[in-house]
Amino acid sequence: VRVYICADIEGVAGVVSFQHLSPEGFEYQRAREWMTGEVAAAIAGARAGGATEIVVSDSHGNGQNLLLEKLPDDVTVVRSWPRPLEMMQGIEEGTFGAVLMVGHHAGHSDMDGSIAHTFTGAIMEVRLNGEPASETRLNAALSGHFGVPVTLVTGDEAYVRGAHDLLGDVEAVTTKWGYTDYCARTIMPAKSQALIRAAAEAGIRRAASLQPYRVSAPITLDIVFKQRMPAEVLAMLSIVERTAATAIRVNFRDMVEAMRFIVFVTNYNQNLR
Ligand SMILES: [Zn+2]
Repeated sequence: VRVYICADIEGVAGVVSFQHLSPEGFEYQRAREWMTGEVAAAIAGARAGGATEIVVSDSHGNGQNLLLEKLPDDVTVVRSWPRPLEMMQGIEEGTFGAVLMVGHHAGHSDMDGSIAHTFTGAIMEVRLNGEPASETRLNAALSGHFGVPVTLVTGDEAYVRGAHDLLGDVEAVTTKWGYTDYCARTIMPAKSQALIRAAAEAGIRRAASLQPYRVSAPITLDIVFKQRMPAEVLAMLSIVERTAATAIRVNFRDMVEAMRFIVFVTNYNQNLR
């Protein structure tokens, strides 16, 4: 079974604040080691569960967080941006049997999430067919488009709870419990890695019995921005309907089209080079 690992950093054990999220942070170098450790644990577990090939997407920040020399030499890693399928780039190539979501976080509208948000930059909130859509919901729907089930989710307690509501009884590891958005009680990296290794293995063994998360077409995306101008300018496009001062709605044939629109919205500016 070919396995796809989508790696983020906000849900990694030990990660609690801005200091962990980007290279300026005083503990970022530690955080990327913890992230790499959890991904390596997921790889080891997937292997034990029968994975034959593993593709990892480094899907946080600059897309260059994972310490490559600390990963086994028989995996490949998707790095940097932009990518047509955003955090799931590569899922469209060949047939995967399982998606593992390692180090993820709740969406903007989740009251209890730890470092909860939906994308960064201009976007504040996304709704998919009328329902709030976390990054995990959008990524799971994209995986479902290609017939691939999510078999493991790891992150804070609110994230895991939301993922279970969405995806059913998938394997999960709770790495921390949020008190506020930027304060959490966390388990230790060594512990999270041991738990993730075991859960990744169990998930691969169950992959054939887990259902892909499918969203019925056509796809309607509502995007709420932090400011008015992105909505005003995007509404110049005839496919875009402005539904509020800071919000737009667009219909798509499928999740691939929808995700590519999000990539456009988050990457386009006049000074691209
Ligand atoms: Zn992230």
